[in-house]
Amino acid sequence: MNSGSFQVERPALQRLLVRRFGMAVATYGLALLLFWLAASFGLLRDSLGIAVLFSALVVASQLVFLALFASGLNRRFKDPSLTEPQVLTALFWHTCLLALLENGRGPLLVLYAVILMFGIFQLPPRVFIRCSILAFAGFLGLVLWELGVGRLADPPLALLEVCVLLLVLVWLSLFSSYVQSLRQRMRKRRFALQAHQDTLRNMMRQLEDQVATDELTGLFNRRHFLRLAERALEELDAGRQHGLALIDLDHFKQINDHHGHAGGDRVLQTFAAVARACLRDGDILARYGGEEFVLLLPDADADRVASCCERLREAFASAEPVGVGVERLSLSVGMTLLRAGDQLDEALHRADQALYRAKRNGRNRCDAAWEKCDA
Ligand code: GH3
Ligand code: MG
Ligand code: MG
Repeated sequence: MNSGSFQVERPALQRLLVRRFGMAVATYGLALLLFWLAASFGLLRDSLGIAVLFSALVVASQLVFLALFASGLNRRFKDPSLTEPQVLTALFWHTCLLALLENGRGPLLVLYAVILMFGIFQLPPRVFIRCSILAFAGFLGLVLWELGVGRLADPPLALLEVCVLLLVLVWLSLFSSYVQSLRQRMRKRRFALQAHQDTLRNMMRQLEDQVATDELTGLFNRRHFLRLAERALEELDAGRQHGLALIDLDHFKQINDHHGHAGGDRVLQTFAAVARACLRDGDILARYGGEEFVLLLPDADADRVASCCERLREAFASAEPVGVGVERLSLSVGMTLLRAGDQLDEALHRADQALYRAKRNGRNRCDAAWEKCDA
């Protein structure tokens, strides 16, 4: 629900109330309870009216912070968590409540430490020490003022209280610095771990690519092609079909013999480049082994498969591999169709038979074995 002054969404607001104010309200409540317990034991110095007024102000100040958070206005401040003002306000009210008590302040001094504990994880050490100094200065000022106006009931006891408070605050400040340095170290380790994780993820991706790719041509390798083709076959709906073609470069051994293995490699790379330019984005081309390639044309009928392979044959025939003076390049193709329920092995066998026919019939041609698919 987003209405009026309630800018924060309900679940976020609930979390905010529980996390930020749940403990604070409980502590304020406890402090007030202890204060009124002390008052009921007759330890109150001032009138009951002033004590009631102070208690109301304590609650009101807490409500102001609550309203600030609920309205989202706190986001405009330099420190939107407002932890420091909250801690300082609590320290101020605690000193005021102590000022209202005649005796029994000693046990309630522990509440200074409780209030400061709220800032131990959020406040930078410098700010925490500042809050501690202000807490100490507040209580010391109170004691000195009472000493000055002659209201201090038991000066040795007050001195002891000041010393104990000093000790506790020094210890808390040191502890806060230690906690903050520990958090910083943990944060650094978390960043380092994240960086390692990213590096590992990149390496995994590179490894996956390497496992799926033929190094020489940059095309998919046979294993990856079979995986993709099996998946395409599984997802093939009844009535639809994919084209499948086996492509073999003609007289490749001669190219190797005349132009060397490196020249042969260049021709293989030339075929890959030519084929990439001829095919569509979704078509899957892989190096099947040696100078043989395999092609899957998703959602293609016999005509499209034939025209695509023919286009590829012609393009390769007119290709000119850089640095290799091959006179005539050609390839032979065996084509078939894949339908739902087909076995990939059988379809590859059909394409292989068609390729064998193309070779036997003079090479540099595309032959098809659609017949079994047409049943
Ligand atoms: P056909 O027209 O009947 O297909 O004859 P072909 O010479 O193309 O076929 P054959 O199977 O007799 O020879 C294929 C040659 O391909 C043999 C092998 O040395 C060569 N070859 C296999 N892999 C590579 C490779 O990665 N690079 C190079 N340069 N040659 C390779
Ligand atoms: Mg060959
Ligand atoms: Mg061959």
